[in-house]
Amino acid sequence: MTTTTQQLYDIYLKHPIISTDTRKITPGSLFFALKGDKFDANTFAQKAVEAGAAYVVIDNPDYKLGEQYLLVDDALTALQDLARHHRRQLSIPVIGLTGTNGKTTTKELINAVLSQHFKTQATQGNLNNHIGVPLTILTIGASHEVAVIEMGANHQKEIELLCSIAQPSHGLITNVGKAHLEGFGGIEGVKKGKGELYDFMAAPPPPPKGGAYRHHSITFINSDDTVLMEMAVARRLPHVEYYGTDAIDNLISGELLENSPLLTLEWTNNKTGESHQVKTQLTGTYNLPNILVAICIGIYLGLPANEINAGIEGYQPKNNRSQIVQTATNTLICDYYNANPSSMFVAIENVGKIEAKRKVLILGDMFEMGPEAAVEHASVIRKAMDTPVDERIFIGKDFLSQQSEAGNQGPATFYETAEDAIAALKAQPISDSTILIKGSRGMALERLVELF
Ligand code: ATP
Ligand code: MG
Repeated sequence: MTTTTQQLYDIYLKHPIISTDTRKITPGSLFFALKGDKFDANTFAQKAVEAGAAYVVIDNPDYKLGEQYLLVDDALTALQDLARHHRRQLSIPVIGLTGTNGKTTTKELINAVLSQHFKTQATQGNLNNHIGVPLTILTIGASHEVAVIEMGANHQKEIELLCSIAQPSHGLITNVGKAHLEGFGGIEGVKKGKGELYDFMAAPPPPPKGGAYRHHSITFINSDDTVLMEMAVARRLPHVEYYGTDAIDNLISGELLENSPLLTLEWTNNKTGESHQVKTQLTGTYNLPNILVAICIGIYLGLPANEINAGIEGYQPKNNRSQIVQTATNTLICDYYNANPSSMFVAIENVGKIEAKRKVLILGDMFEMGPEAAVEHASVIRKAMDTPVDERIFIGKDFLSQQSEAGNQGPATFYETAEDAIAALKAQPISDSTILIKGSRGMALERLVELF
């Protein structure tokens, strides 16, 4: 006999800490034996019990050694079903967000704002997938008043699944751009895949009988983003609030006052006409919509402007997502956490616009481009050549193969590997410059930082 979701839920209420890694077992926790590419955690079930797990959820009867071993058909599905069930007992706003770029930054900004007023729970780091989302939902306790859930995807139907688990009452897509083109099947595929959040917001499931799930469906949309606007219109979303640079129809609107390289902006609550200036610790004009939606959600949930501004001003980007590092001789824009054509374009554009004496681009290959790799690397090279900067350095095989795109428009150097670039930069150091360093995670461009 297998254990039902309700039985698991009753156990979870007494043992609300979930673990999936025997090396990090919290005594008294509920362990789920998940499968990875190279392991089957059923084989670790006994170890989990020995390490103090109160119960272990397994999906192979051969490993059932007693009452503490709960057999289910599939441990991952059981974890997701448990999280979905838990979510439907919660009556708090659950803000769900996805998008191609800026999810973590936006999630952190929303959390920074809302935590000024509410006890919040938010996705830790980047735990935004089919395992991370249920684990996050299961960390929401009785004392939490709002949750902010990041949902990531690199193929179709993933956001549909994550929405069915997190059941966002408040949703947003940051943007739709060129990333994971391989898994999604091109840009139209990305639109469809990310659009699954709007599909959910257009037709959320009814609240459970006797359950507490707050049936509310409000979508926040960047009115400057024509792709998102079209996607929203096509789905006839029932309740929407807009944010953007235009005052018309937006709940809040905002504009950049300064980009040097930290952003200062002015935002207006269009209901009251009140305006505020905020000095942020973020760089990148592309962060403006990320900031505006955090303000918009704060206003929508009734926060006073001083709390909203304190949340935005206090937020420091982490983990090399557009992080500013001041060295003795240079200002670095460390953006080597990830890269794709869309985020490359906006990052390059931003360097073109910032106020700085001397500007340098150091760009590394973008991964997961599939058959579009050549075209997309060529187009980033052209974008870099068209942007007024003093020096351009391209690193990686994909950029190197498109070297001819650079023509003789200005200084551009190509290196096949980061090691080659490091050797050259050691011989000819860069100084007195603002330097953007951006590439895919696999390029590990952090290796360059010590040179500046
Ligand atoms: P992941 O898919 O890895 O979870 P993410 O969507 O969570 O990424 P962030 O980690 O917030 O994104 O940001 C990563 C990088 O994306 C930033 O450093 C920046 O280069 C770029 N970025 C952030 N916001 C935007 C935006 N609104 N438009 C385009 N690019 C953006
Ligand atoms: Mg993220």
